[in-house]
Amino acid sequence: MPEFTGGPYRKRTWLRSNLPWFLINLGVAKKGKDCEKKDGSHEWYKIDNQSSGCYHCEVVKTGKLWLQETKDLLSL
Ligand SMILES: [Zn+2]
Repeated sequence: MPEFTGGPYRKRTWLRSNLPWFLINLGVAKKGKDCEKKDGSHEWYKIDNQSSGCYHCEVVKTGKLWLQETKDLLSL
C-alpha cells in the first residue's frame, strides 16, 4: 500500500487509483501546472467563499475571482 501523504504528487496518485475511469478520462486527475506560464489565462470557478480555482491548471488563489469572470462576460 503506497503512502499518500508527504509528497507533492501523491494526492494525484491517489486520485488516479481511486477515481472511476470516466472521471479520469474527463481530465479530473490531469490538470496542467499553471496556465500563465504557458502564455494562457486562467478561468476561475468557485471553490468556496474565499478561494478560486482554475479549471485548467492547479493554481488556486484567494479571492472571489469567479465574480470577475462573470462581470467580464456581462460587459461584452
Ligand atoms: Zn489556470
